Formats: sequence, C-alpha cells, structure tokens
Amino acid sequence: MTQIGILALQGDFEKHSQMMALLGHQTLLVRTKEQLHSCVGLIIPGGESTTLTKLMKKHDLWNPVRQFSMKKPIFGTCAGLIVLAKKAVGNNVETLGLIDIQVIRNAYGRQVDSFIDTVTLKLGRDESTFEGVFIRAPKIVSLGSDVVPLAWHGDDVVMAEKGNILVAAFHPELTSDTKVHEYFAKKIHV
Ligand code: GLN
Repeated sequence: MTQIGILALQGDFEKHSQMMALLGHQTLLVRTKEQLHSCVGLIIPGGESTTLTKLMKKHDLWNPVRQFSMKKPIFGTCAGLIVLAKKAVGNNVETLGLIDIQVIRNAYGRQVDSFIDTVTLKLGRDESTFEGVFIRAPKIVSLGSDVVPLAWHGDDVVMAEKGNILVAAFHPELTSDTKVHEYFAKKIHV
C-alpha cells in the first residue's frame, strides 16, 4: 500500500491529511513506529517544536524517523522544519539534523507574529507565486551549500530541500493551493 504518513502527535496534522486526500493519496495518521514503517513518505506538521520533539521521543519515533529519512521522503512545515533542521540557533530545542539549515524560532517578532504574504516558488523550471501563511514562523538563517532553495519571501529562503528532506517555514496546508503538496508527492513517486 502506498500511503503517506502524517505525524499526528500534535499540531496541524488534519489539514495536511485533507490536502493529500484531495490529491487522491491515501494517508495514515502516524503515532507509532509500526505505522511509520507502513508509509512511503512522512509529513511533520506545524505545532510547537519543543512539544513535538518530546512527544516523538516518548512515542519512540525519534530514531525511527531519522532512519526513515535514509530511504523515504519527509516534508516538515514550520515546527516540522525546526525538528528536521541542523540547528535551532540560540535555542536548546533538540533537532534531528537531517537538513543543513540553521533556523531561528519565532523570528518575526511579536507585532508580525503571524501574517500572510506572497512567496515566490521555483520548482524545477516553473516559477510561480504562492500564498505564504506564516504562523510564529521560524526563519532560515543559513543553508549548507548542498541545500536547494525552492521559495523566497523577500530575501529570505522559506522552502528548501536536500535529498529526501523538504522543509517549508510557512503552512501550505492552510491554503487551497495544492502545488507544494503535489511537489512532495512527486518526490515519493506516488
Ligand atoms: N513557533 C513554533 C515553534 O517554534 C512553530 C510554529 C508553527 O509550527 N506554526 O515550534
């Protein structure tokens, strides 16, 4: 079975599941490593990265997710991006270090805590715009040379990939535009 897993320990998992279902994919809400192993890809949703890391450990999913990434694609949005990053600068949240980016949590400050603004997407040869929903979003402050930037908000890279790992600082599941989820589904060839 080719189902896409949505990590469902905390946060915004239902919307990702609906988006993938809309695209015709079977999804599974993942809360155990056995469920993870039955999936061909995994989405780590937004939420609160400190809580997410604690729950991943508690549910024995921390190392299994790391191993999963060796063979299968993972897409992390917002808190999911933080969990996958190499380092959360100035913060002691533990990360999986699966993509060479450094991030600052809640980087947009109080006044612009959450906002919607246009993001420029470059997926392969297609350049387009996307409605970027940013909710207490992290900022990517450095990218390793092997990390490919895929979207920008002004000068900031807000979506990137390296091998099996795709990350976005915004919430594509909260729009009606399916482009980003389609891109992830293509990475897993389903
Ligand atoms: N601010 C959250 C964190 O640092 C992320 C917010 C989100 O996922 N929407 O974990």
